[in-house]
Amino acid sequence: MSDRLQKDVGRTSPTCPLCRCAPETAHHLLVDGRYTKRIWNLTAEWTAQPTLRLQEWQSSNSVAQWWSNTTMTPHIDPHKAMASIIVVLIITWKIWKERNSRIFKHHETSATALMSTIKQEARAWVAAGAKDLAGLVLQE
Ligand SMILES: [Zn+2]
Repeated sequence: MSDRLQKDVGRTSPTCPLCRCAPETAHHLLVDGRYTKRIWNLTAEWTAQPTLRLQEWQSSNSVAQWWSNTTMTPHIDPHKAMASIIVVLIITWKIWKERNSRIFKHHETSATALMSTIKQEARAWVAAGAKDLAGLVLQE
């Protein structure tokens, strides 16, 4: 998978639509962009799960490396590991949707508002039976 995201139809700017201050790569978008880091920091406050804490992550240069660093952690409870993967999937999906919303609909959502939609999505997963997730996220 290419790490460059510039080939979207009709896009001329390779700049990240979330912070507008760096080239858009998958790694920047999902891991270390300014907007994205804000989301990960809010996630750390919300989940109390060390593997989801930005500060605990090993440095990575690609999404594949980051993904294996954060989700293939050998010494954690498998229920927490599965719940963490669900959280990471919800977050990366919401960030991707936010990126597309900015590009194609010219609509921006703040990091705190996006975090609210992430929590809503997680609550829907819990309501649908994701018990492991209920144990991971702090109820609000
Ligand atoms: Zn950015």
